[in-house]
Amino acid sequence: MQFKEIVGQDAVKQRLLNSVKENRVSHAQLFLGPEGSGSLPLATAYAQYLSCENKQPDDSCGICSSCRKYQKLMHPDLHFSYPFFAKHKEDTALTFIEQWREAFLTNPYLNLDTWRDYLDAENKQANINIAECHQIIKKLSFKPFESPYKVLILWLPEYLDKEGNALLKIIEEPQPNTLFLLVAQNQDQILNTILSRTQLVKIPQLSYNDIKEHLVEKHNQTDEAAAEIAYLCNGNLTEALTMLREDNKGYHGFFVNWLRLGYANKGIEMMELVDQLAKMGRENQKNFLRYGISFIRECCLLLSGAGSLVHLPPAELETAQKMTRVMDIEQAHGIITELEKAHYHVERNGNPKILFLDVSLQIIKILSFKTIRAERTQYIQN
Ligand SMILES: [Zn+2]
Repeated sequence: MQFKEIVGQDAVKQRLLNSVKENRVSHAQLFLGPEGSGSLPLATAYAQYLSCENKQPDDSCGICSSCRKYQKLMHPDLHFSYPFFAKHKEDTALTFIEQWREAFLTNPYLNLDTWRDYLDAENKQANINIAECHQIIKKLSFKPFESPYKVLILWLPEYLDKEGNALLKIIEEPQPNTLFLLVAQNQDQILNTILSRTQLVKIPQLSYNDIKEHLVEKHNQTDEAAAEIAYLCNGNLTEALTMLREDNKGYHGFFVNWLRLGYANKGIEMMELVDQLAKMGRENQKNFLRYGISFIRECCLLLSGAGSLVHLPPAELETAQKMTRVMDIEQAHGIITELEKAHYHVERNGNPKILFLDVSLQIIKILSFKTIRAERTQYIQN
């Protein structure tokens, strides 16, 4: 991974380059950034740069023997640790290294959901177990083989549990020339003992423009399509890439059809749609619901007279305008609440058929009968 392959984040790249030039590379660093900001690719590019035999002023060379090994994630001094779904208690990250290489090289902006798809995860919880902590200590106790540095990139230390304390000594008193790079998303979920021993590298969310430009230049999107995705993904490139794969246009037609059937109180046709939704798969269902939430939010802007803030391509804008003639702001908020609740349950493996059936009935109630469920009361009673 080279810096030039990473979207945006120029200030962070510069800071990392400077730390090498000024010879003040801290041996334990925490790359902290929200999902889709590029913290994992940044840590990897940084490690490659440190190890590069022919460093350029602003990037690794990409062709020396070290870079070539790094680019396949096959360098003997580069180690990864990450959450996994252990089948046996002696499983470590190394058990899944082939899948890891494939997942990262396919999309370095992966998240835990994408990673899960590479593993036989069933409904297990991901974590970094004690066997893995011992493995890390063992790996880092050897001298580097080829490079000036031995690097361990630990992705998502949030999943370390208490076992992470086993790593404290190695973070505090590392072997010479070892580098410990933690890549995290939520500061609150990291063991304090680890937090206090690492130097923080803060990585901001990507900007709308960075994402839009990337989608146009590297993914052949039209200006319009790129603008829509950049707007919907909220600075999260992982999410933008997922949307790209799943073709939002399909969601739009599907979603509007769902609302139309609800408005017309067409229960039987809605059941057919529920069947299709239930078969979509968890990731698609989540994206579909997120698309719906964003679309209704745009309708809310139109309804409250803030049409100039609406970011929709012309065809979708036209549908949104039509929607606002049959839906007031209270109904719109009612639908958003139902969609958000459904998203919450999809994420937690709720039964999709029951879940989408329930949302469909609520949409009929809201749009056709103008009754909005007393959300809070019902929640407490449950
Ligand atoms: Zn190189």
